[in-house]
Amino acid sequence: MAYKVTVDDSCVGCGACQGAHDDIFKLEGDKAEPVKAKFDNVPEGLEDICPVGAIKVEKV
Ligand code: SF4
Repeated sequence: MAYKVTVDDSCVGCGACQGAHDDIFKLEGDKAEPVKAKFDNVPEGLEDICPVGAIKVEKV
């Protein structure tokens, strides 16, 4: 089991995700993106960090 994390175009670059989990997210310009394609594990409720709902997590 692994997890794919994505950030969609609604990201406003607030930095909250990177601030909470810099092992998962990094800001690139005015958008955040995951630091790698797949993660072995992600914290419960990771999507809830984002104020605009830009973070999606799916099992792959
Ligand atoms: S918390 Fe959401 S809006 Fe803020 S930088 Fe991360 S993905 Fe973008």
